[in-house]
Amino acid sequence: MEYLPNIVFAIVLIVGIGFFVRNVKKLIRNIKLGKKVDVADNKPQRWKNMARIALGQTKMVVRPIAGLMHIIVYVGFIIINIEVLEIVLDGILGTHRLFSPIGQLYDILIGSFEILAFLVIVAVTVFWVRRNIIKLQRFIKPEMKGWPKKDGNMILYIEFVLMVLFLTMNATDFQLQQLGADHYVQAGAFPISQFITPLFEGLPVSTLIFMERTAWWLHILGILAFLNYLYYSKHLHILLAFPNTYYGKLKPQGQFNNLESVTNEVKLMMDPNADPFAAPADPNTAAPEKFGASDVMDLNWVQLLNAYTCTECGRCTSECPANQTGKKLSPRKIMMDTRDRLEEVGKIMDTNNGEFVPDGKQLLDDYISREELWACTTCNACVQACPVSIDPLSIIVEMRRYLVMEQSAAPMELNNMMSNIENNGAPWPYNQMDRLNWVNE
Ligand code: SF4
Ligand code: SF4
Repeated sequence: MEYLPNIVFAIVLIVGIGFFVRNVKKLIRNIKLGKKVDVADNKPQRWKNMARIALGQTKMVVRPIAGLMHIIVYVGFIIINIEVLEIVLDGILGTHRLFSPIGQLYDILIGSFEILAFLVIVAVTVFWVRRNIIKLQRFIKPEMKGWPKKDGNMILYIEFVLMVLFLTMNATDFQLQQLGADHYVQAGAFPISQFITPLFEGLPVSTLIFMERTAWWLHILGILAFLNYLYYSKHLHILLAFPNTYYGKLKPQGQFNNLESVTNEVKLMMDPNADPFAAPADPNTAAPEKFGASDVMDLNWVQLLNAYTCTECGRCTSECPANQTGKKLSPRKIMMDTRDRLEEVGKIMDTNNGEFVPDGKQLLDDYISREELWACTTCNACVQACPVSIDPLSIIVEMRRYLVMEQSAAPMELNNMMSNIENNGAPWPYNQMDRLNWVNE
């Protein structure tokens, strides 16, 4: 019986981590449904981007208040969880404050964790007020209704509760240390929880131990639950922001990826000496089976990684000129829809032994409408604004490519323009010879 808590703890830990690993495997499988894309180039630049954007949060501080608070929550959450290592080892070994023999450094660490915990509580409270009381425009757009709103708030509640549990655990521990309770070594500095300690004054040692153990267990159970919640939440970005910024676009902003097969065909058309009936020299540059994307499997895996990384912050949408002028398009919704469809495809695979069985649905029309796609001005502002290097424009362009090249379903104005380019070498419906007529008008 002496080792029962250790055994229970080990089982809980194995189950919690086991579920997490299972979800990570599903995540990787779903992302791998995307097409291959060559991202092995310029590794030094990629590492630099990851360090600067994901680790350094440089794009977050473009909006200083939100950026600073996000950094507090991010740093606080990561650093405080260093203590999780001690909690896990204590849980397995049946020790208490295992790292305390490191002396003064331990006091400094616990003291700084407490200050960070307090700052996290302040920051998540401000975030909650911005979302629910002030109702910032970008948090109340149509795509943020229902689950996205609940998810955003849920993350704030969980972080708040975890920090309160951490401080409660320390406050009761501090009180037990002062009372000289067995097993509670004199260790740690408590710059914040010392102000909560008076709440527990006068309580018997057994009650204090019960409260300390309850807070300790709930804290670690909460962390394990949160770890498993990530897969279902926009909070997945806490992990995926790193690979996403690494694999982010390196090309000059706004540069499109021309289809090699089409480029070769145009070159062939322009070359008077080319044999139009010759087979392509390189089979890899032959025309693909399908042009563009109508479903998530037609996108590349970096675009699918983008969808899972989206934090739903709405910075892209708030910069989007189409959205600002009342069009239906929201680049954030493009990313959310892509993720939702990918999740749906993943669930179908789960129930069919890993095989995708067509369900009569697709990303185009069932999730993203043509009206949204054609509202995009391709200005690239959404890509520029994204704090984690997501590229909603590339998905829009791929889906438009499908509409134009597979379905000839471009809006009439565009079809006219493309015919004009083909016939007149310019977007206007005039003969090339008449191009300078305006000079004489
Ligand atoms: S590229 Fe398109 S989606 Fe992105 S901001 Fe510009 S108009 Fe909006
Ligand atoms: S795409 Fe980027 S900017 Fe837009 S909501 Fe997602 S994380 Fe925010």
